[in-house]
Amino acid sequence: MCMAEALLRIPDSKTQQRLVNEILTRGHWDEHLGSNTSLLVNASTWGLFFGSQMVEQPLLESKTAQNILQQISQRIGSKMAHTAMMQAVKLMAEHFVMGAEISDAIARAQVSRQQRVSFDCLGEAAQCQMDVDGYFAAYQDAIEQIGENCTKERLFDQFSISIKLSALHSRYDSFKQPQVMKELIPPLRKLIILAKQQHVQVTLDAEEADHLALSLQIFKTLWHDPTIKGWHGFGLAVQAYQKRALPLLKWLVALAKERKSRIPVRLVKGAYWDSEIKLAQQLGLDDYPVFTRKTATDISYLACANYMLQQSDSLYPQFATHNAHTITWILQASQGKTFEFQRLHGMGEALYQAINEIEPNAPPCRIYAPVGLHNRLLPYLVRRLLENGANSSFVNQMADQQVSDEALVSNPLSRFKQSAIHPLIKPAEIYAPERRNSKGLDLHCPNTIQRIQRAIDEHNKVAWQVAPLIKGIPQRGDSKPLYNPANHSDQIGQLIEANVEQVNLAYTISQKSLSEWQLTSIEQRATILNKCADLFEEQLPELMAHIIREAGRTLPDALSEVREAIDFLRYYAYQACSLQQASRDLPGPTGEQNQLALYGRGVITCISPWNFPLAIFTGQIAAALVVGNAVVAKPASATPLTAFAAIKLMHQAGIPSNTLQLIPGDSRIIGKALVDNPALAGIAFTGSLAGAQRINRSLANRQGAILPLIAETGGINIMLADSTALLDQLIPDLLTSAFNSAGQRCSALRVLIVQEEIAELVIDRLLACMDELKLGAPDQLATDIGPVISADALQTLQAYCDKMEKQVTLLHKVSLHNNEGHFMPPHLFEIPNLQVMSGETFGPVLHLLRYKGGELAQMIQQINAMGYGLTLGLHSRLQSTMQLVTTTAKVGNIYINRNMIGAVVGSQPFGGEGTSGTGPKAGGPYYLQRFAHERTVSINTTAIGGNTELLGR
Ligand code: NAD
Repeated sequence: MCMAEALLRIPDSKTQQRLVNEILTRGHWDEHLGSNTSLLVNASTWGLFFGSQMVEQPLLESKTAQNILQQISQRIGSKMAHTAMMQAVKLMAEHFVMGAEISDAIARAQVSRQQRVSFDCLGEAAQCQMDVDGYFAAYQDAIEQIGENCTKERLFDQFSISIKLSALHSRYDSFKQPQVMKELIPPLRKLIILAKQQHVQVTLDAEEADHLALSLQIFKTLWHDPTIKGWHGFGLAVQAYQKRALPLLKWLVALAKERKSRIPVRLVKGAYWDSEIKLAQQLGLDDYPVFTRKTATDISYLACANYMLQQSDSLYPQFATHNAHTITWILQASQGKTFEFQRLHGMGEALYQAINEIEPNAPPCRIYAPVGLHNRLLPYLVRRLLENGANSSFVNQMADQQVSDEALVSNPLSRFKQSAIHPLIKPAEIYAPERRNSKGLDLHCPNTIQRIQRAIDEHNKVAWQVAPLIKGIPQRGDSKPLYNPANHSDQIGQLIEANVEQVNLAYTISQKSLSEWQLTSIEQRATILNKCADLFEEQLPELMAHIIREAGRTLPDALSEVREAIDFLRYYAYQACSLQQASRDLPGPTGEQNQLALYGRGVITCISPWNFPLAIFTGQIAAALVVGNAVVAKPASATPLTAFAAIKLMHQAGIPSNTLQLIPGDSRIIGKALVDNPALAGIAFTGSLAGAQRINRSLANRQGAILPLIAETGGINIMLADSTALLDQLIPDLLTSAFNSAGQRCSALRVLIVQEEIAELVIDRLLACMDELKLGAPDQLATDIGPVISADALQTLQAYCDKMEKQVTLLHKVSLHNNEGHFMPPHLFEIPNLQVMSGETFGPVLHLLRYKGGELAQMIQQINAMGYGLTLGLHSRLQSTMQLVTTTAKVGNIYINRNMIGAVVGSQPFGGEGTSGTGPKAGGPYYLQRFAHERTVSINTTAIGGNTELLGR
């Protein structure tokens, strides 16, 4: 039964209702504050609950309601249709902003005799303290000026203000909860107290779903503040598209009752729908935090509105809507309760005018009025256009003459015929039918963090022993300690390194295993890879613990690393089966059969770096195995423990232990043996250019067959930013690209080349934002930057920075207070040209170079002349610039208007050209072929007694 039917029939509504009530009355909501997952699990329960509310209130079927709706529609429908385009143009200009300054906006409101106006200071989230100070001053000034224009009479008949919490803290994120609570509450408290004194009602605006729990903690803390106690002017916006909307309202009612105060609640549908959907897909979450169908949101809105009206002793309902059906429904349901409507400045004017003409006693409508300079308008405007311009939006449909009045004003419940979740876009299914998306974890959920923390604690208790695994048997030998790069005194285990004899033994056994392994079908091998992916998924926290403690990766990085490994396994499993199908008959003259097929080459050696100790390690091995090779796997010396854990799971999944051997060790000791062995059939290498060149030379010196080398190496990665770059977008992308994983990603940004007109602005913001970065223990959520991998790496980086300080301008160096491990503070140098860049600097060191407008083409030539070609970023609004860069830059992966790290398997196949790699790209459609021999078979069918094909004609 689909959800719509369930909503209409509710055969089991009592049970559902009881369940909901139980969860709510036991205070689970409060306990689960911040626990997205647990609430999401209950999403269908909430959905049914909305249904039960609706069925008890079938007001939409009332004749009066239909009548009013049709009148509204007739009065404004055609007008809207004809002016739809004009409306959009107006929106794009000043129409959406009430005034550049708060004084202008107040004056404009007064001229139009509007007293119910909620002023909103335009702007996006603060990125640094400079922004926070600016927004705080703007809010303070606004409250004072608004207050001067308010009387001390009825609070809700006055001007009010909306405050965006993310504007008041530069790291507004639940990962930073303790810091945010400590630093944001005092200034916010000041603003609320000022607003109370000035008699100005405040609403905390709603933002992205993963901010919700943090916003509620803040609201709750201030709600209990004795200075604010008893004041009815402190309110919150609630988004109906959130599956948590109704429980959230219940939570607010409970808060209001505790204090015997009324909370003003602005009910909106929600403006971040597309980004919520995208994020949930990227994170591989179990479900979306928001409804995927617009109709479900419409129903949720009505259910929430109904509840708010029922609870109007505790809540002051402020219904923000431009939907005539919603308005009418509320008018019908309200039965004399006090509330207000709200609309955006520049929208819905005709609609509310029509309502007032039909229903002169309709409650008042407050205008949500953005204030600010037009350069701050763009993101706000885009959100509004997406929200109201979507095909499913009422405003859009009203302007569409194809949509009949009946359809326009129909009951969303009766429209709700399909299931609540859009079948095509479940996060797990975005790569269907090829493969399942790797499952993510919601790191904003405290339960999830506890689970990972437990895995890390358990990891801590084990004395890990890593040794060469030959035929699955750990080999004996002398061991040496392995340390956590974030903490000198944390010994995580012991490593027995392989010797030359063990390398040779591994080759002998691998080669012997080949015939049996090659007898298995590709489908069988693919099934084993998929099984392995499932095991990785089951062991996700444990694998993360390895990566965090051994490679110093932060929690989010470790999570994405495991997911990438899982994606590689499933992607290559699928690709191998497709290749098998492509091994097919080829065309030719009659009387001849031609067939092409792929076969494993033999024993492939997979040599991987420490900076992706699981993903690259697994990807290389999976690709080699699935096409029928045996593998000798050589992990990086710094990360053998993660590799050991992965091999164990691969064997458990069904890869024979004599087909896959692990040889951890020092390349200075076993490197030659690895490359010289006669059984070797090819090498997949990822690491430094120097390492690849050494191996290449050794291979060239071998007698006999010329073996393939797939080498993925480093680069000097550039980001170009022209004067049209949007700073709000550019700066976070710079920080992520250059400093995430302490700059130890092959794709990491090394040089920002910025057009001189915006260079100073960029530098100012970049410096301020660099100071916001937190270096520290990678197992702490609040940490942005973990350690570099080793004492040697740290020393090399420090020596490089010392040398650069003497040669070029040091623009900034973050002050560092962590000497427990190998921590390198982020640096920013200004360089005069690209020639000063001598090679790859593998750490959090960014260089900046200015270029003159008009010289972009020369700049690209210089970049190409460096010889590397791994990643390149571009921030520009100009199509012509995008075209120029994408057609002339000789680079493997180009990223436009986004950060330049975190390539996704199958979506962004990864690998460079020039001195950055040989290709084919990992995670791309041409990778597997390189691990295979192609063999054709041609049979002359006429030679053995006649061509039956011709005879049959
Ligand atoms: P590295 O070259 O020091 O080591 C890589 C691996 O090669 C290690 O397992 C090492 O033991 C082995 N190795 C090195 N020389 C060898 C030899 N002569 N014979 C056999 N094995 C040998 O690199 P690293 O420090 O581990 O990793 C960082 C480097 O990897 C950076 O340059 C980075 O840009 C690059 N990288 C590239 C990609 C990519 O996809 N292009 C991805 C990750 C890392």
